[in-house]
Amino acid sequence: MKNENKKLLSHQELGVQLDLYSFHEIAPGAPFWHPKGMVIFRELEKLIREALDMANYQEISTPIMVRKDLFEKSGHFQFYKDLMFTLKVDNQTFVLKPMNCPESTMVYSSKIRSWRDLPLRFSEIGRLHRKELSGVLNGLFRVRQITMDDAHIYVRQNQMIDEIDNLIVLINNFYKIFGFKTSYRLATRPDEAMGAKLLWDKAEDALAQALKKNKIKYELQPKEGAFYGPKIEIHVKDSLNRSWQLGTIQVDFNMAEKFNLGFVNQDGEKEKPVVIHRAVFGSFERFIGILVENYQGAFPTWLSPVQVKILNLTDRNEKYAKKIAAELIAEGIRVEINTDNETIGKKIREAELEKIPYILVVGDKEEKADTVAVRERGKGDLGAQKLEKFKSKILSEIEKKI
Ligand SMILES: [Zn+2]
Repeated sequence: MKNENKKLLSHQELGVQLDLYSFHEIAPGAPFWHPKGMVIFRELEKLIREALDMANYQEISTPIMVRKDLFEKSGHFQFYKDLMFTLKVDNQTFVLKPMNCPESTMVYSSKIRSWRDLPLRFSEIGRLHRKELSGVLNGLFRVRQITMDDAHIYVRQNQMIDEIDNLIVLINNFYKIFGFKTSYRLATRPDEAMGAKLLWDKAEDALAQALKKNKIKYELQPKEGAFYGPKIEIHVKDSLNRSWQLGTIQVDFNMAEKFNLGFVNQDGEKEKPVVIHRAVFGSFERFIGILVENYQGAFPTWLSPVQVKILNLTDRNEKYAKKIAAELIAEGIRVEINTDNETIGKKIREAELEKIPYILVVGDKEEKADTVAVRERGKGDLGAQKLEKFKSKILSEIEKKI
């Protein structure tokens, strides 16, 4: 039974306790990632990169600092200037990008595109900056430096449904890994909107059809779309039953217009692509903050900064403990070893407080039999096992992301 009275810790508290990240006055709103927090960050990057490679995306990286006029041209500056950091360099005004969108068009227009090139899917793990007021900064939930899992997909009008369908599947599969329950909202044309009504109808229809195709119920939010296009918002519920808006799939008619984007269609004429913006977890910072609180620091094995802690019973077993550590590390398993001259009881308690999924204790008996005594988080002592057996169990958990 769940202990309802157990006090839940914030990601700020857990970050200190588990040595994941820290915040300092010298950089308000920007976390310092410690090695263990960085493991989580890298696992998420790996996860999304693998999924995108298999979905035929191409990764790009665009400058953090760009001249202001790019954002004036896109129309963002007028809307977001209070949120943008500006700098004077060589008598010109630059900004730290608050979003990746306009810069992705620079890559798109770097050559002539044909209808055969579309859909063209540019993903970017972009470093963004937003001038949030210091009073609203809140750990990883509200930061000034944001790392976003972004993509801009350039499609022909008749490719919208299939592409949005792919995105829904991609996003759903992603959230399943974390056990999040999803709900969907579809926001449609506001009164003040740019682009032809016909195109809006087509885009809204594509979003709705893709949802239906995936048998997804959604809440309609009439007139809540952006002025430049309709969107799907994906909300999730975590294991603490808290709701978060994470993913978005946004159709955009503005960018192609503002940046005069085109492709050569089958008749040899220039046609405008539709741009789809999408994010799966939104920002790495916020997503990691949610995960840390969701798991209360007891991450699933695949995501745990340390997956195995090895403890030697006596000094005699130190060499054997190190040999086992080396074997596991060679398999890509994240291992720490505690050879301190403390009682085994104390070493076990310490490792348990660190919420490490597996603790391996090795003494003379284990060394002689070439085994390890396994303790699993939440299950306690599993007894002695051959190292090979333990290795295949943990590797299979990591592979299955449990
Ligand atoms: Zn965008």
